[in-house]
Amino acid sequence: MKITGKTKIVGIFGFPVSHTLSPLIQNVAFQEAGLDFVYVPFQVKSSDLRKATEAIRVFDIVGVNVTIPHKEGIIDYLDEISEEVKLIGAVNTVVNKGGKLVGYNTDWMGFLESLREDGVSLKEKKAFLIGAGGAALSLGFALVKEGVKTLFLTNRTYSRAENLARKLKEIKGDETEIKVVEFEKKEKLVSEGIDILINATSLGMKEKDPPLINLTGFPPSLYVYDVIYNRETELLKEAKKLGMRCQGGLGMLIYQGASAFWLWTGKKAPIEKMKAVARDYLGV
Ligand code: NDP
Repeated sequence: MKITGKTKIVGIFGFPVSHTLSPLIQNVAFQEAGLDFVYVPFQVKSSDLRKATEAIRVFDIVGVNVTIPHKEGIIDYLDEISEEVKLIGAVNTVVNKGGKLVGYNTDWMGFLESLREDGVSLKEKKAFLIGAGGAALSLGFALVKEGVKTLFLTNRTYSRAENLARKLKEIKGDETEIKVVEFEKKEKLVSEGIDILINATSLGMKEKDPPLINLTGFPPSLYVYDVIYNRETELLKEAKKLGMRCQGGLGMLIYQGASAFWLWTGKKAPIEKMKAVARDYLGV
């Protein structure tokens, strides 16, 4: 990569940012697309978020991704937010449009795109979403936007699942029925005819993590989705053993990045190259 006086800058705001894969996949994408862009990590403390956001204009930065813990907080410092961000309440991509800072959310798009790639449609389906953090909110938004018929929600901390249900009920039209289930009773959903089960918790990131749910008894037609991308989780291993179709979180990660790439450059991202470099790095 050759950095010159003309090189355009994009980056990521987070705290910490050392774990992020985005610089790796975005820089490879810029190189592959022949674009004179560079993507850098910016470690930004919450107390510095306003100043850091102003610096996007000062340094004429093309845009940034935003990760934990700034996805909600940055909204206060932006000039405009997309319709989806108004509903989700979280930004993961900022675009500097001639000094006007506009916030978008591409996480939910990444999830839908990764499902589309695998030929999975959500319309009129029964979905079971486990988790109630930031990832669950974006996925929940995508599920109701795509018109799932029934959405079962559960979370280790029950009250957070209830909050998520309340928020999603405000977002959705009348197409989706939303039901909150106790975490301890999640295996009882075997008889509900669930089409897609999604892990949106961080359980499974570590080698020693126990399986999230016992899949025995769920129909073999169940599609299992896990947002974890750094390893094959016990959940995915079990799904495969039971002959269920499934995918991990790498596709979502790549496609949310590809949507951000498009917002910054107006060009289609080289998906396969991004996937290959991420897989190689993670050894998955
Ligand atoms: P949050 O911290 O906002 O939420 C964490 C969630 O995991 C909560 O629902 C929490 O439950 C649950 N959880 C944590 N530990 C356990 C446990 N031991 N047992 C059961 N539930 C548990 O994190 P995010 O939502 O931002 O991220 C969640 C995961 O999604 C992370 O692994 C992250 O890497 C991944 N992710 C992947 C993306 C992708 O592109 N593939 C994009 C974004 C995130 P509780 O409320 O009870 O604490």
